Amino acid sequence: MKYIPVIGLEIHAELMTETKAFCGCSNSFGQDKNSNTCPVCLALPGALPVLNQKAVQLAISAGLLCGSEITPITIWDRKNYFYPDLAKAYQISQLYAPICVGGGLEVNGRYIRFNRIHLEEDAGKLLHERGSSIIDYNRAGVPLIECVTEPDIRSSDEAVEFVEKFRRILIYGDICDGKMEQGSLRVDANISIMPENSIALGTRAEIKNINSFRFLKRAIEFEIERQTELLSNGGRIVQETRRYDEVSGETFSMRSKEDAHDYRYFPDPDVLPLIISAEDVEEIRNTLPEPPNKRYDRYVNKYMISGRDADTILAERATADFYDAVINEGADPKAAANSIKGELLRLLGEKAVKEIPVSPKDFAKALELASNLKISQDGLKAAITYMFQTGEGIDKALKEKNLIITENQDLIKAVIAEIVAEDPDLATRYKAGENKLFSYLFGQCMKKLKGKALPQSINLELIKELTE
Ligand SMILES: [Zn+2]
Repeated sequence: MKYIPVIGLEIHAELMTETKAFCGCSNSFGQDKNSNTCPVCLALPGALPVLNQKAVQLAISAGLLCGSEITPITIWDRKNYFYPDLAKAYQISQLYAPICVGGGLEVNGRYIRFNRIHLEEDAGKLLHERGSSIIDYNRAGVPLIECVTEPDIRSSDEAVEFVEKFRRILIYGDICDGKMEQGSLRVDANISIMPENSIALGTRAEIKNINSFRFLKRAIEFEIERQTELLSNGGRIVQETRRYDEVSGETFSMRSKEDAHDYRYFPDPDVLPLIISAEDVEEIRNTLPEPPNKRYDRYVNKYMISGRDADTILAERATADFYDAVINEGADPKAAANSIKGELLRLLGEKAVKEIPVSPKDFAKALELASNLKISQDGLKAAITYMFQTGEGIDKALKEKNLIITENQDLIKAVIAEIVAEDPDLATRYKAGENKLFSYLFGQCMKKLKGKALPQSINLELIKELTE
């Protein structure tokens, strides 16, 4: 029997706030253990939480960028469980009225729906060092959003692409830094399989805390294979939580999967319901950047650049913003895309792109000069490199690098004569009808006159010389 994979994701993204979700402790990564803590996030008696407004704004931003509805009255629930990294023995989360509902993202022409995005606080971290375990509460109370999709995903590749898209949106919106290696973005995958042509969903297994795209792909593929083999051999899938082992590439059972009622959710009496007005939502909407998926559509459909080039430009928001700025200066979208991916990204190399040290106006000017044949393509590259390395403008680059082509007709004639003289037989054969020799002779002239004459001028002179 053929089975179809059914995959739903829960993506946890830590928010880029200054402080934690319910206290004033710093939300910065990599500090000394337990240095970012206070009575609230350590759950000392009598301490009360105060909701972080910025965290709410970022959660709403995430929803708006993905087409979700914002809930007008959102409430806070306690999710109760015991674990050493959870000092309160409950997590403040949202079960019944999540802050964002619905929305989704298109992946490869298929729309993957969001069930919800809710706001909650992270737990601390257990570190196992030299035979003992240490609890670090710096992460306890860090605000995060959990984005839950409907089980609309059908393959590991689709899952990876979905997370990549969502992650990019969060980064563009300054919502989450997307650093999976630091745990800022973690994925749980719910996977089941169902027989082809069936409509009843199979029993699912949940794989927890996947922190790289590669592991996400491998974990899903392993799990599909495991379940297929099990069902094909007459076995039964049990609902459980599994762990992906990065070394063996396999998933292992951790515990039987719990349902919401196991956590005895109830409204948190310490945090008041939050009323979000339509005006609040509009105010936030007005601060949002155009999301990368929309930009992709604009680049490909309006500017007619390839999807691959669009992806390259969109990989970093700084590059995409630069591209848009260059186009706003009137540059040709295709020429701008070529120079950005060819020259600019080569110059940036592995450096993290925060600010590009060339003004979009000067960049656009350089492209214009090249398209009007005032400078050569090599001259264009030289101009971009000069501006990038010195921070100077285009005028200085043209002067310093002597880039403007000033044609000398006598020089062009002399070079052509020289090349024809080197092998007079070629000219004779061309005149006798071997047309294809033209491009060879033209190439030789281009080589000798590099940067000193326009191809058009060489072309014209060469025709004259050969037809005389
Ligand atoms: Zn605190």
